[in-house]
Amino acid sequence: MLTQHPHTSGEVGTFYNRHTDVYDSALGGNIHVGYWDDESDGSPMRAATDRLTDLVTERVAPTEGQHLIDVGCGHGSTAARIIAHHAVRITGVSVSDYQVEVANGRPQPADLPGRATFRLADAMELPFPDESFDGAYAIESLMHMKDKEAALGHIARVLRPGARLVIAEHHLDGELDRPDAARMAEAHGFFKFSLTTDLYRQLLGEAGLRVVDHTDITENVRRSYDSMTNAWRDAAHGETDGETAREWQTAADLGGWFFAVPQLRYGLLTAVRP
Ligand code: SAH
Repeated sequence: MLTQHPHTSGEVGTFYNRHTDVYDSALGGNIHVGYWDDESDGSPMRAATDRLTDLVTERVAPTEGQHLIDVGCGHGSTAARIIAHHAVRITGVSVSDYQVEVANGRPQPADLPGRATFRLADAMELPFPDESFDGAYAIESLMHMKDKEAALGHIARVLRPGARLVIAEHHLDGELDRPDAARMAEAHGFFKFSLTTDLYRQLLGEAGLRVVDHTDITENVRRSYDSMTNAWRDAAHGETDGETAREWQTAADLGGWFFAVPQLRYGLLTAVRP
C-alpha cells in the first residue's frame, strides 16, 4: 500500500512521469551524469554513469546487511547496480509513480547479494521512523527540492548515528548575471533550487550532519552535458505537445551557454550523522 503525502507527485513527479525515458536514453540507462577519468577515457555513457554510482557507493561505504535509503531513486538503476555488488537492503523513494513502477518491476534474481524496494514518497516528509537507515545517498534529487531544510532534516532524522549521507549534484557557485539564467531555470526545473556548496554545508550543519568531504568533479562529468543538450533537442523535435516542445527547445538552445559557465559545478558531498 502506498502512503500518499501532501507533496508527493506534484510538479516534479509529473515531470519525471513524462520525461524519465528521455533522460534514460540520453544518459545510457541512468538518470545522472557520467564520470570520465580524463580526456583519454573513452568509456561509453552507461559505463561512465555507472562509475558515478560507484563513486557515490564508495563514499556511503556500506557493510553487509545494512539498510540504505536512496533519496530520489529515479527508475531504480542506481540501486540495481548497488545490490548487484553489495549485500545491502535499499529502500528508494521518488515522487514519480511511473519511476516507482519501473524500479519495482526490475528483476531481482535470487542470487543477487542485495535487495531493493521502491515507494512513492516525498523526501521533504519521509515516512520512516527515526534512525532506521545505515546510510543514504541523493543523486541529482535534492536539487529539485524546494524545502532543503525539510529534506535534510528528514534524512538526518532517519539516519542512525555514524551513518553517512552522500549528495551528488550540480551546484551553482555564484550568481549568473545573465537574463537567460532565469529562463534556463524555468525552462527546465533543474537549476531552480540549486544551492551553493557553502549553503549546503550550512544547511547540513543545521540538520545535525557534519560534512567530511567535498570533491569537485565538474571536469570529470562535463561530457554528459553535450549528451543532455542533444537529448533535449531530440525531445523537442519528437514532442507533440507544443508547450513541452518549446520548453525542451529553450533548454537545448541555452544548454551550450549554460553548461559552460564557470559557476556551474558538480560536487560529491559526504556528511556523517555524528
Ligand atoms: N537518483 C536517480 C534519479 C535522479 S532524477 C539517479 O541517479 O538515477 C531525480 C529524482 O529525484 C527523481 O526520481 C525524482 O522523483 C526525485 N525527486 C525529486 N524531488 C523529490 C522529492 N521531493 N522527494 C523524493 N524524490 C524526489
